[in-house]
Amino acid sequence: MILDQFRLNGETAVVTGANTGLGQGFCVAFAQAGADVIGVARRSMQETREKVEAAGGVFHEIIVDLSSPDAISVIMERCEALCSRVDILVNNAGVIIREDAKDVSEENWDKVVSLNEKLVFFLSQAMANRYFLPNHYGKIISIASMLSFQGGIRVPSYAASKSAVMGITKALANEWAPFGVNVNAIAPGYMATNNTTNLRSDAQRSEAILERIPAGRWGTPDDIMGAGVFLASDASAYVNGFTLAVDGGWLGR
Ligand code: NAD
Repeated sequence: MILDQFRLNGETAVVTGANTGLGQGFCVAFAQAGADVIGVARRSMQETREKVEAAGGVFHEIIVDLSSPDAISVIMERCEALCSRVDILVNNAGVIIREDAKDVSEENWDKVVSLNEKLVFFLSQAMANRYFLPNHYGKIISIASMLSFQGGIRVPSYAASKSAVMGITKALANEWAPFGVNVNAIAPGYMATNNTTNLRSDAQRSEAILERIPAGRWGTPDDIMGAGVFLASDASAYVNGFTLAVDGGWLGR
């Protein structure tokens, strides 16, 4: 039956940036759908743990700074110790630095691109080589952005990295779809999380953004839960290499 295709019972999901915002939303959604969740973040994910456990789920945490060179080996070693297989990877952790293009330093560029783009590729590769390709099953969901489609204002490194997420998603889907691995992305619109605190506190920018969203409101972590479970489940078995906007209609304007 169709609703059974959305169930994630017996599966294990790894979610990066699981302590706040959209990452926390994915963890809760997967737990509600029946999966065990491994959260990855720089600090303790107590609030996420409480929400996952309240949904009847099991939560494990891996505390690691994703900008450190050994982050991927730490994640893979901990996953090995925690569970027999991983079925779902959500590349959610991301950083945004707002600055004029004329002022962007190489250091800031590398900070954004190495987390938002390079890690997405190499963590996907590590998970695919260890779990997804040998098991002929896996779901990779990377978090893109409206700035995978548009240039944005004062966020050139972010726009570059999120455009790359869309490209990486298509490239990996082309190679891994034959092996039963679904690689897709979600492009959230303007969501009320830490990522947009500065934007929302700028009255002029905030009003201009809100006025352009057909749904007439900022999104919330609850808004991405349905798309997350869909792309993590058998319901999306024939969806490959696509970036799904969850944006209150922003891209349609
Ligand atoms: P957020 O700032 O709450 O989440 C970002 C997450 O990344 C946090 O959990 C943070 O701890 C983690 N992170 C950042 N640097 C890290 C590092 N070095 N090591 C470990 N973890 C690190 O904001 P959010 O909106 O929930 O962002 C989640 C994702 O959604 C990001 O990729 C962001 O770019 C993307 N996104 C957000 C919006 C929005 O409007 N909020 C829109 C489009 C895309």
